[in-house]
Amino acid sequence: MKSINDYRGIVDDRIISNIYKLANRLYGKRVIHVNSTYYGGGVAEILSSLVPLMNDAGIDAGWRIIRGSNDLFSITKKFHNALQGDSINLSTIKKKLYMQANEDFSTYTHLDHDLVIIHDPQPLPLIQFYKKRQPWIWRCHIDLSHPHAELWDYLKGFILKYDSMIVSHESYKNDLPMRHYIINPAIDPLTHKNKPLNDVTIKKIINKFHIPTDKPLITQISRFDKWKDPIGVINVFKRVKKKIDCRLILCGNMASDDPEGLKIYEKVKQDAQHLIKSGDLILLTYESHILVNVLQQISRVIIQKSIREGFGLTVTEALWKQTPVVASRVGGIPLQIEHGINGFLYDPHDYDGFAEQIIELINNDELAHRIGTAGKEYVREKFLITRILIDYLELINQHLN
Ligand code: UDP
Repeated sequence: MKSINDYRGIVDDRIISNIYKLANRLYGKRVIHVNSTYYGGGVAEILSSLVPLMNDAGIDAGWRIIRGSNDLFSITKKFHNALQGDSINLSTIKKKLYMQANEDFSTYTHLDHDLVIIHDPQPLPLIQFYKKRQPWIWRCHIDLSHPHAELWDYLKGFILKYDSMIVSHESYKNDLPMRHYIINPAIDPLTHKNKPLNDVTIKKIINKFHIPTDKPLITQISRFDKWKDPIGVINVFKRVKKKIDCRLILCGNMASDDPEGLKIYEKVKQDAQHLIKSGDLILLTYESHILVNVLQQISRVIIQKSIREGFGLTVTEALWKQTPVVASRVGGIPLQIEHGINGFLYDPHDYDGFAEQIIELINNDELAHRIGTAGKEYVREKFLITRILIDYLELINQHLN
């Protein structure tokens, strides 16, 4: 079981003390989180750490996952895309299936807690199917600044019933009138994905997953998703490759609530056949946190060429490992990177900018080291799980005391 004390030495003792102080009016309060997957993607990542730590702080915190069929998740993925600006055919059948899945879940999941926290659009309509006896909070991790108008209007019908909402960035609140909170996501430095690994373990993982280390590695770790622009990453890589002999790794697991992943993976595989054959491009689809950790540590550069990005925990994770990051200036990424100080930011369509920066980082060890060191300290200050825990404790106090 995770314990708050385990973070001593990583964060200042004042932070640990503040957590206990904020928790002392919340002992025994029952809080429930609901989302749609227990692995793959940033939300599952955060809840896996946050829920045990809330319990250690003295709150009775639980976590439920809405049971969804492929149909539901293919609809909610379309919602996700449309909330980020895509078009959508908002048909009656889509709405019906969406509502049905939420109603079904409500019949076998009783929510009699003191506070309910619903994550993202998949379980959003649950609020329709309960007699409301407590505050409900909608925590949305998506960039809501340019949503599809008709979908936004439809979803607002549910959102307005909530007492408050949490978003990752001020601009994501859109036109919602209720009380809102900004909580930046964060990483847990003690998980398999983020803890320091010794050389023996790193070697073992490299061998197990057959990762060649004879040439510099450039890596993007992301679900196979068009917003993460894997094809764009390959185009950048081709430019880098003209100047430096290196390899590209695209590592993307298949999240259970993202049915598009396989399609995009197949397309990348098809488009980049010759790079795969020559060994210049390696596609990995394993679900392995330790593999992600190793890749983030051994790569010369981590690239995150997203076109849209709610926050981008993969960026935080790489910064924490002191590996230089070259990323798009979109969504939550600029919250984490100050260009030229602790990483580099480019317009997602600036392939040359990305490529030249990667080449410079591979050629200049001193620069890579300086940027990497600054990245880790920035994360320590702003983006560790202990800070999220404090944000939630403050928010729960405001709702329950
Ligand atoms: N992730 C992973 N394996 C993969 C790809 C991604 O464990 O093959 C994790 C990644 O390390 C990060 C999360 O999934 O913790 C992705 O979060 P992010 O905010 O970057 O993007 P999202 O998937 O939520 O859009």
